[in-house]
Amino acid sequence: MPDTTTSAPSSPSAPAEFSDDAAGYYTPGDPVADTKAPGGPIDERWNTRQFEARIANPANRRRLSVIVVGTGLAGASAAATLGEAGYVVKSFCYQDSPRRAHSIAAQGGINAAKNYKGDGDSVYRLFYDTIKGGDYRSRESNVYRLAQVSANIIDQCVAQGVPFAREYGGLLDNRSFGGVQVSRTFYARGQTGQQLLIGAYQALERQVAAGTVKCYTRHEMVELVVVDGRARGIIVRDMVTGEIETYFADVVVLASGGYGNVFFLSTNAMGCNVTATWRAHRKGAYMANPCYTQIHPTCIPVTGHHQSKLTLMSESLRNDGRIWVPKKQADCAKDPREIAEEDRDYYLERIYPAFGNLVPRDIASRQAKNMCDEGRGVGPEVEGVRRGVYLDFAEAIERLGRETIEEKYGNLFDMYARITGEDPYAVPMRIYPAVHYVMGGLWVDYDLQSTIPGLFVTGEANFSDHGANRLGASALMQGLADGYFVLSNTIRDYLADGPFDKIADDNPAVVEAQQAVQARIDHFMTNKGTRSVDSYHRELGNIMWEYCGMERTEDGLRKAIDLIRSLRDDFWRNVKVLGTADSLNQSLERAGRVADFFELGELMCIDALNRRESCGGHFRGESQTEDGEALRHDDQYAYVAAWEWAGEDEPPILHKEDLIYTAIEMKQRSYK
Ligand SMILES: Cc1cc2nc3c(=O)[nH]c(=O)nc-3n(C[C@H](O)[C@H](O)[C@H](O)COP(=O)(O)OP(=O)(O)OC[C@H]3O[C@@H](n4cnc5c(N)ncnc54)[C@H](O)[C@@H]3O)c2cc1C
Repeated sequence: MPDTTTSAPSSPSAPAEFSDDAAGYYTPGDPVADTKAPGGPIDERWNTRQFEARIANPANRRRLSVIVVGTGLAGASAAATLGEAGYVVKSFCYQDSPRRAHSIAAQGGINAAKNYKGDGDSVYRLFYDTIKGGDYRSRESNVYRLAQVSANIIDQCVAQGVPFAREYGGLLDNRSFGGVQVSRTFYARGQTGQQLLIGAYQALERQVAAGTVKCYTRHEMVELVVVDGRARGIIVRDMVTGEIETYFADVVVLASGGYGNVFFLSTNAMGCNVTATWRAHRKGAYMANPCYTQIHPTCIPVTGHHQSKLTLMSESLRNDGRIWVPKKQADCAKDPREIAEEDRDYYLERIYPAFGNLVPRDIASRQAKNMCDEGRGVGPEVEGVRRGVYLDFAEAIERLGRETIEEKYGNLFDMYARITGEDPYAVPMRIYPAVHYVMGGLWVDYDLQSTIPGLFVTGEANFSDHGANRLGASALMQGLADGYFVLSNTIRDYLADGPFDKIADDNPAVVEAQQAVQARIDHFMTNKGTRSVDSYHRELGNIMWEYCGMERTEDGLRKAIDLIRSLRDDFWRNVKVLGTADSLNQSLERAGRVADFFELGELMCIDALNRRESCGGHFRGESQTEDGEALRHDDQYAYVAAWEWAGEDEPPILHKEDLIYTAIEMKQRSYK
């Protein structure tokens, strides 16, 4: 791919000849703008906003209440920080403990521009890598702020006692992740998320003990309460008793994670879902770039229909593992150890010599697919195709010794061995891309406030920082940046006008929301259907993977929308939910989540159809270079697509936010 500079669009609106594949599927709306991001030099914007955002004085804070949905890194850090600041916080999660949030699964690490390795890192380089990695589809003000606060996160976590890996001399160690040429990833073996979450959980529990935070576990938010245009509370289902409860506050924060499970098979925890953000979307919060999905290149390949979950092998493994497939199809069924060096194709090193095995995830994933599509995949055949490539540590073990590899990646190797029954120290691992993360999420401004006043969104649940592709180890960074440093400094501007009027229990908006929740539950419990919730979810996931997965085309997306619509109709008529509503009932929980996945899935396809360009994790078959690389169209698509819910069976409304770069030049990405 040439490293040619393309200029920023002079007019981001589409030129006359622009053909809109999604015409008819949506209604064009007014542009949307982020009015909170200050102007001026990029390195001063965050200071400016922090100063300009008003402060509620300490005495008033004790009268201001905040609901935080989610106790992953984004939610736990936010609740703890807001509790420490003196607000009255209620924290909700659907697990039995805040500590079981999906963040616990994060393996590889967290980025920060500390330059401990002295290898040329800086705030600007982290900013640059992130914008470029996101294929110039994220906001520069947000990303610069993220890079600025990244270093604070590490200090905060070290102070909490998070056991980051250290070098012999005692300094914190770093490793590299995809899409960068420096080592800036801090890690705690392959359990970084777990260790960071223990830190955030401790901070949260400290506030619980201090009386500023109250935790509600096993409570699932099933509706947002909006009164007079402001988010004022949530309706939850007590998942143990089935009780429907309403909680009010001056402000609501959603830190409810990502929706990758719309694909059914993903590396996300089984419970991850879209319900909290989708319910907010239906109440007026715009959903931004929903089609931007990250497909991670290093997951354990699918082995058959029995699976309901896929397992990630951390990207950190690409530091030392070399990815290859046989040069000849005839070798694909052989024991890899019997394939001679000259018969192996280290295709990432061959195609991208500058970044090699450390190209960003979207590129590594697509090339793995290309190799398998060419018939050079390895591992067992599933439906007649071998979908796997090798991740080989033989050379690293020879160079560094088995002990060093064990020290760095031991738990990942053990996990691989337990799942596959193969010894990765002796035989190369087999990997294949799988859905892992979503860059899309609720639209937020620089303050992290959605289009519903009083509804703030943090972590993976918002769309803000990663554009069309997230770099490895940047999700933990964003979640903790939002929770420990950003939100507390922006939400105060909104809360400075509070406390707001008390909401009466019989307020019509509240009663209506409660009735809608009850009606949905009643429908599921009384429907005389014959098909299980999971079977619908699996079929929806297949549609999404097939037509809105690693490669999307106009025809495929149109087909997907039709398939989703008819499957959704069937779901409402024919789903069978077992058990009772007044007890722990996973079938009922999943029914609600799958119902929301159907609506989200359709919007994802419409969004993907509208964006007839390839960018980051969104690869449109119609938009590629001669050598098969992603081809962006900055003159037509340099915008955030912010979708508004227009009502049941109404086409969604598309609002475009122009992406304007002043501190960085838009270029065609090159990792060669
Ligand atoms: C296997 C794996 C490994 C990863 N490794 C890394 C890594 O090394 N580095 C990195 O930067 N990123 C990594 N990621 C991505 C990263 O882990 C996530 O993006 C991040 O942890 C999300 O954090 P969060 O706080 O936004 O959401 P989550 O951790 O998903 O937390 C969501 C919270 O919301 C709650 N919730 C959701 N819906 C509701 C509801 N309706 N009602 C009540 N509560 C609700 C849940 O109970 C939970 O507490 C990895 C992801 C996966 C899948």
